[in-house]
Amino acid sequence: MTDAATTTGRVLATALLARLPDLEPTEQRARLQVLDDVEDAVATEAALGLLEAMDDATGVLAGMAAARVLRWRGTADQAERLRAAVDRLPSFRGLRDWRTDARAALAALDALARGGCRCASVHATNTAPGGPLFTVEDTRRGDYRSESDVRCTACGAGWRVTRDDSYHYPVFGWSRSG
Ligand SMILES: [Zn+2]
Repeated sequence: MTDAATTTGRVLATALLARLPDLEPTEQRARLQVLDDVEDAVATEAALGLLEAMDDATGVLAGMAAARVLRWRGTADQAERLRAAVDRLPSFRGLRDWRTDARAALAALDALARGGCRCASVHATNTAPGGPLFTVEDTRRGDYRSESDVRCTACGAGWRVTRDDSYHYPVFGWSRSG
């Protein structure tokens, strides 16, 4: 990571942390969109800065956005900083614990650190089969349950993903299919 990207990422994190608590959710989402618009090194540094410094006022949307950035774009050398941050995250109230997303990001970076692909972490988390890493090749739908064949675009691994809609929110199950 270049020094310039690190500096820009830190400035971005500081700016987001200062502004987000005053904004409505729709405005927060619009403001967080910047993370998708900057290069990986800047976005992941900003995401780490957000998670390291966030408190109850920062809000769950920022936490989830930062976790998503690190999960799909983070690097193995960011795993230890993320691990330290995950232990201190505010919980917020909600139907599901958003910190699951941060732990999923950590699982992805740990998989990279072990020399594997970040897709190796999906089976451990409640992950939808879309997202930047996967191509959905086929989906078979039932009333409350569907099954998709997806492929990792990074390493080519095939996964079978079930989706169960009989709970309050979709529950996904992953297994390797080749
Ligand atoms: Zn993979």
